[in-house]
Amino acid sequence: MKPIHMVDLAGQYQRLKAEINPAIQSVLNQANYINGSPVKSFSQELATYLSIKHVIPCGNGTDALQIALMALDLPEGSEVITPGFSYIAVAEACQLLKLKPVFAEVHPETFNLNPLTIEKYITPLTKAIVPVHLFGQCADMETIMAIAEKHNLMVIEDNAQSIGAEYTFSDGRTCKSGTIGHLSTTSFFPSKNLGCYGDGGAIFTNQDTLAERIQMIANHGQKIKYFHEVVGVNSRLDTMQAAILQVKLKYLNTFNKERQAVAQRYSEAFAKHSHLKPPVVARNTTHVYHQYTLQTCDLDIADFRNAMQKKGIPTMVYYPLPLHHQNAYQQDISLPVSEMLSKNVVSLPIGTEMEDSQISYIIESVNAYFEK
Ligand SMILES: *Cc1c(COP(=O)(O)O)cnc(C)c1O
Repeated sequence: MKPIHMVDLAGQYQRLKAEINPAIQSVLNQANYINGSPVKSFSQELATYLSIKHVIPCGNGTDALQIALMALDLPEGSEVITPGFSYIAVAEACQLLKLKPVFAEVHPETFNLNPLTIEKYITPLTKAIVPVHLFGQCADMETIMAIAEKHNLMVIEDNAQSIGAEYTFSDGRTCKSGTIGHLSTTSFFPSKNLGCYGDGGAIFTNQDTLAERIQMIANHGQKIKYFHEVVGVNSRLDTMQAAILQVKLKYLNTFNKERQAVAQRYSEAFAKHSHLKPPVVARNTTHVYHQYTLQTCDLDIADFRNAMQKKGIPTMVYYPLPLHHQNAYQQDISLPVSEMLSKNVVSLPIGTEMEDSQISYIIESVNAYFEK
């Protein structure tokens, strides 16, 4: 059996090497390292894949959030509602732009923003909602969009973990994750479901004026070189990363299916353990398992992780401290579900290169832990 990794990027490269190497070589031959033609063609291909009008590439997923928020041009002190159990990037971007991240509660089963509680966080200063589609399934976007419309708020979807997932509205209409809000952002960090071999990110929108503004902000606030209309940043997707992503985009659906197959085997095996709760997929979304995250009950997580480690099985806790308890973002609020989840979740290895024997070994090792 091959050694087990949380995600096996080296193995995936071996599988795609015959296509990736010439794509990189072509960039080297042309020396078009910045804004070469693959940047534009990849953006268009991703827009087609998502069925969205505009994909604006940028340097990484955190920049994407910052640029998206800059494009909204919100007054200083505006409030942005975002989940308290999440990755740090939204909070960071808000704080840098002198906006206030308002940490809201998540649903105890899906771990996503709980729309039933959003309205209680809305004040006259609230200007935007940033749902994060955590671990690979969509937040309840239909309800979130209805609330946003009622209160005249902008919605930015943080799609970094859910690219390729599909959301179904109550009228049966289906669309890709990241195409429902006014704006969406994603990351091409190597371990993401669509990852490059360095940093990368993008912003998506169907609105022409927002797209134009975003393009301008990401490029030093200029439309015409050396004429700066607004304060911008320098945030670009490298040509080489775009060339790699062009190859990998063709496999995104296959990759996501492979992740789903691993998740299904885990979930079938672990359902019997009273200490483990496999991921619950909400009825209006698919799950692309950026992470396979179990919720545990009365389990000593450190001891469990230790036991797995001894068997050569890496595990991770995403995320061990909710955002309102982070030193840099302390807020004197209580989010019992977020606090409970950060103490009780544990993620197992998942990816596109897992062999049957590895999956079986992980399942047997987890079973053995509970049978001891
Ligand atoms: C990875 C990630 C980001 C940030 O992406 P980077 O490319 O690492 O900056 C933002 N939000 C979420 C939910 C993520 O998982």
